[in-house]
Amino acid sequence: MSKALWTSDLTHLLDADCSGPVELADRIWWVGHVLVDDPFQCHVYLLEQGDQSVLFDPGSRLTFPGTLAKIEQVIAFTQIRYFVCHHQDPDIAASLPLIDELNAREDALIVTHWRAQALLRHYALRMPFWLIDQHNWRLQLEDRALEFVFTPYAHFPGAFCSFDRHTGVMFSSDLFGGFTTTPQLVAREESHIEALKPFHEHYMPSNDILGYAMAQFEQYPIEIIAPQHGSIIPRPLVSFMTEQLKQLNCGIYLLGQDDSDIRRLSRLNATLRAIAETMLLYRDFRDIATRLLELVQRSLPAERIDYYAALPDQTILVLKRENRFSGGIETQSHDFLPFIGQSRDIWIEAHRQDSAFADHHLCSDIFCEKYASDGSGSRLAIPLIGPSQQRIDGFAIIELSQSVPFTKAIEQIVKQLAEPLQVALEREVIYRSIDLEREKAYQRSIRDALTGLFTRFYMHDVMGRQCALHDRDSSAEFAAVMIDIDHFKRINDSYGHGAGDQVLQTVAAMLIDYSRTTDIPIRYGGEEFIIFIVSQGVEESMVATNRLRDMIERMTIDIGTETPLSITASFGVANRQQGESLEHLIERADEALYRAKEGGRNRVESG
Ligand code: GH3
Ligand code: MG
Ligand code: MG
Repeated sequence: MSKALWTSDLTHLLDADCSGPVELADRIWWVGHVLVDDPFQCHVYLLEQGDQSVLFDPGSRLTFPGTLAKIEQVIAFTQIRYFVCHHQDPDIAASLPLIDELNAREDALIVTHWRAQALLRHYALRMPFWLIDQHNWRLQLEDRALEFVFTPYAHFPGAFCSFDRHTGVMFSSDLFGGFTTTPQLVAREESHIEALKPFHEHYMPSNDILGYAMAQFEQYPIEIIAPQHGSIIPRPLVSFMTEQLKQLNCGIYLLGQDDSDIRRLSRLNATLRAIAETMLLYRDFRDIATRLLELVQRSLPAERIDYYAALPDQTILVLKRENRFSGGIETQSHDFLPFIGQSRDIWIEAHRQDSAFADHHLCSDIFCEKYASDGSGSRLAIPLIGPSQQRIDGFAIIELSQSVPFTKAIEQIVKQLAEPLQVALEREVIYRSIDLEREKAYQRSIRDALTGLFTRFYMHDVMGRQCALHDRDSSAEFAAVMIDIDHFKRINDSYGHGAGDQVLQTVAAMLIDYSRTTDIPIRYGGEEFIIFIVSQGVEESMVATNRLRDMIERMTIDIGTETPLSITASFGVANRQQGESLEHLIERADEALYRAKEGGRNRVESG
């Protein structure tokens, strides 16, 4: 057969003659034996590698003679060195004693996982075992290496599959197996999933375990799936079948359809998985909260969930629908709030002792249900407790449209839900604390410590935006008024630095009082200030500044001297031109101020 025919869509094999060996891919042969009227066909595959050849899942006593005949059409049986047993069921391993008899070579090996070996050894074979888990999950052959893929508990604890990267063939053991009423070597179309479904429903213990195996498979560039039962899956069907199996409900959850406990467990499992995914997917608590409510609604008649947690500064953060879960500081008191930061024991004790808690029902020694007085529903308070400690970090408060009888089942659901809710909230508190710190640092950086006026840092931040606004809209004009106290050095020199500070504080307080909310007073330097007067024309800003000059001149400051201190200041005003940089505007105001000083101080000049 020419190599060109080894295409992984396997269309050339749709009507293959199964009475002889069938070459699937480069040096890989199907050597199974078809049993008449058996929906449970078992496939055997041969990887021809000269005298290092490999036989996968050799088969049962029923099929081995047929398989042996097919092998002999490809190579002499003695060329086989490795007998891979993906597991130990009799339909693949019962032929081992026959093989052991036939085998004449010293170096032949049974390749398997230690869990399967523990059972296969009971055949009391002469052939030794070669354990994949002791050989780095890899077997080097003549022109390729086999990679072993661990798919634990997919039908057996030590289950594994073998991948040949050279051809992309995955020898998948029971995975992708199927029941076929008429033997069919290669799956033809998507409808083959119907043969896979009952097989997996019976063989795979649960969707989680099958899902894990599918996730493992997705790591490999698979061209052909060669299962032990059913039909071979050609490349065009590989991803379809994989996707379908990922969704398939199987094993215990399926068998337990009528068992409400198992059904509930199954639903809860799916919910917890979905919650974990939500937490990975979303960063914004708003999205998380919306999704969490939906998920909780699968198990409980929940109408809303509010979250409460203590921030590091001991304020209580509340995340609820009304603040769109963007968080606020809780000011109202609630019966459960005082327990944040307390131990779990105190919470339990309160329910036993405190008469205020008479209408609260403690369940599982942890959740509290309080019925609405009109009997319309109830409120479930779930204390959220960190993993390492007994302290209550916060609460999730679930409003239920009807009260639920606290059966063991519901208790279990609530218990399971509490953990992801706790994680979600804890993560949010961490984000909030970082935001809070950032906000504090920002507040520190924008306020001058001595005078409480804004800093130059803040000026650049805010006035940069104001400039951009003025550039777009000529009516958003503003003026920079630069203020410098006259002969301030003398105050320091005569009365001390403390008195100087006091003067600066008094002037600053006056500037704050005087400014309108839209004006922005800045401490620009030692005894220099700038006020940005917003939305006033040239005339108006001159008038406003002159009034300011007058107020400073008439102000008296008590610094403990006999006569209170009087001061004056000089002013430079510049109205911003559209397109002018902030630096240039300040420069012009500074030049005007210089002229005011030159002109004799205690005056206003404009630039
Ligand atoms: P002029 O009328 O020309 O403005 O004279 P002046 O003395 O006010 O100006 P000069 O710039 O020579 O002096 C400013 C002084 O302000 C010098 C500096 O020690 C003092 N100063 C700067 N920051 C502070 C402060 O935070 N507290 C006090 N008490 N003094 C300060
Ligand atoms: Mg000065
Ligand atoms: Mg001065």
